[in-house]
Amino acid sequence: MLLKLRKNLTPADRAALFGLCRELGLEPSVLAGVSGGVELVDLAPMADVNVDPARTLSLLGDQYAVASIVDAGVAAERFARAKGQSDTVVRVGEAIFGGGYVSLVAGPCSVDEEDLLFDVARRVKAAGATLLRGGVHKPRTSPYSFQGLGDDGLALLGRVRAEVGIAVVTEILEPKDVEKTREVCDMLQIGSRNMINTPLLREAAKAGMPVMLKRGMTATSKEFLLAAEYLLSGGCEDVVLCERGIRGFDSATRNVLDLGTVAHLKQATHLPVLVDPSHAAGRADLIRPLARAGVAVGGDGLIVEVHPDPMRAKSDAEQAISPEHFADIANDARTMCGALGRTLVAPSSTSNSRATSGGASPSPESASTAEVAAKQANLS
Ligand code: PEP
Ligand code: MN
Repeated sequence: MLLKLRKNLTPADRAALFGLCRELGLEPSVLAGVSGGVELVDLAPMADVNVDPARTLSLLGDQYAVASIVDAGVAAERFARAKGQSDTVVRVGEAIFGGGYVSLVAGPCSVDEEDLLFDVARRVKAAGATLLRGGVHKPRTSPYSFQGLGDDGLALLGRVRAEVGIAVVTEILEPKDVEKTREVCDMLQIGSRNMINTPLLREAAKAGMPVMLKRGMTATSKEFLLAAEYLLSGGCEDVVLCERGIRGFDSATRNVLDLGTVAHLKQATHLPVLVDPSHAAGRADLIRPLARAGVAVGGDGLIVEVHPDPMRAKSDAEQAISPEHFADIANDARTMCGALGRTLVAPSSTSNSRATSGGASPSPESASTAEVAAKQANLS
């Protein structure tokens, strides 16, 4: 939001105005280079503030030296997409989310045996995944269920990352997980059950790395976006949202994949949005059609649970799919991206054999910032 100030302000007027701005949770800064004796002040919302421009105008305009509010419609919250604003593009290793680029994230619900982890990592990468998922701190519903390998699992993730050459995302459950996880992984995941865990959001925001934020299973889209705002206002710019299904009344599926909200989020925010068909369906046989729908509705990527021996998965076995099944999903995504004028990003070592009908899939080297910008311009 910009304020246009009255001319010939006294220092006292200016100090009073700036003081009030701060009381309202808005940090003022005078913009340089405006001609004609007019002064413009930019107001940046500080953390946890929900600014109402009309209220601000009445407070500032009546009592202080404000001639008008320019761009009053500009988003107050960092997550909001201003009119004409292009996508935020988030890169994690070789994955690119947003700006017309779609990337695939795949791997086991939880890291279990070393051989199985290396096997699945190689196979999902060969099929087209650019980011490996694998939980080591698991937020299980029952305390008697497998809770993950913890730090031993983290060490395995570090090894598979180096040896297979794939970036890794894993879930953090509490603030103390952040430091050790950032040393090993490329992206932090905050799960559905922790979407409103504000101490965790605040700590993750300070990690200096991308964060995948999953929607709480009963969260509205606004609550979801405000949880993302904790990350953005805390200093993390690379936030990727993930729709993973919300609670419904029908036990035929584990959750209800809320595709309407994915479409809404693509308008309401500039942040990339992933679709998780695995936790939405809760059953292996529905993952492929939901994945197709996720790309079709505008998702910037898919996150899918894949296990080399799905029946043996130590968590979420019912929704685990084989690497072959995942390869079919990757092929669908490639076809759909081609049809929709988007690009499915391929791992660099397999990019030659993975050209999509929408054009060659980029490796990070080939997808320059200029190319991403050009692609966004075509899509908007
Ligand atoms: C997961 O990704 O394994 C997970 C626990 O997902 P969610 O937080 O969406 O339940
Ligand atoms: Mn899971």
